[in-house]
Amino acid sequence: MTGTEAGSAGRTMEQPGKTLPREWPGTVSEREAELQAVIAMASHDLRSPLTSVIARVDLLRADYSTTLGEEFEREIAAIERGLHRMTRMTQELLDFATAGHTLDMTVVSLRSLADDMIADHGVDIDGALPDVLGDAGLLRHVLDNLIGNAVKYTPAGRTPRITVSARAQDDGTVRVEVADRGIGIPAGDQNRVFDLFHRCANGDGRPGTGLGLAICKRIIERHGGHIGVDENPGGGSRFWFTVPAW
Ligand code: ADP
Repeated sequence: MTGTEAGSAGRTMEQPGKTLPREWPGTVSEREAELQAVIAMASHDLRSPLTSVIARVDLLRADYSTTLGEEFEREIAAIERGLHRMTRMTQELLDFATAGHTLDMTVVSLRSLADDMIADHGVDIDGALPDVLGDAGLLRHVLDNLIGNAVKYTPAGRTPRITVSARAQDDGTVRVEVADRGIGIPAGDQNRVFDLFHRCANGDGRPGTGLGLAICKRIIERHGGHIGVDENPGGGSRFWFTVPAW
């Protein structure tokens, strides 16, 4: 076999009888590309003033927290929370724009992607994880997001229980599932969680922007796949997505 490595999980090698397709579904229209460019520019340009405000708030804290006391400390903490949220939002808007870029399609080892996350998040793998066709960086982003959410939406004080599994389907796709035992998604919200900025009422003030799943949806649809969520029997959520099999 010949080929180059594209990150730890993606490789551009071809196998006998199998070739990477030249065309991919989900082509971005000119208008959409323009919109993405505007989003990318705005989020990028917001970073510089944001970084400067964060640095000034740090200085204020260093200079005055001992003299101005508790109330000052509380106000500074509230400002920092807001800044943190803005930083995250600019990053996620940039991710959203990036998700529309040309896909760098390779053979992706789901196993390698998941292995990177096992150590970080305590994830169980159920069965073999097959290779798929996709953009390794973007698919890593999707898995990372789903697993990160599974951790975040587990009730405080409980150890997250997350299982990743995948199975090949008759239509030439692989269905990947990330199941958790977290707080679950209210029935009426199961389709809406993939909308931009949608956050469910049962989140109990956990930090977030409501952009993560919209980005995942965009990435998966660019791969010609689908994404959804079902209730996990026995409690929690079961997110799933489909991508082309290799
Ligand atoms: P964020 O987590 O930043 O709010 P997301 O787009 O990742 O944004 O998720 C949208 C909403 O979907 C969340 O606010 C939360 O209400 C719900 N959600 C996502 N993942 C889970 C999960 N694993 N368990 C329960 N609720 C979830």
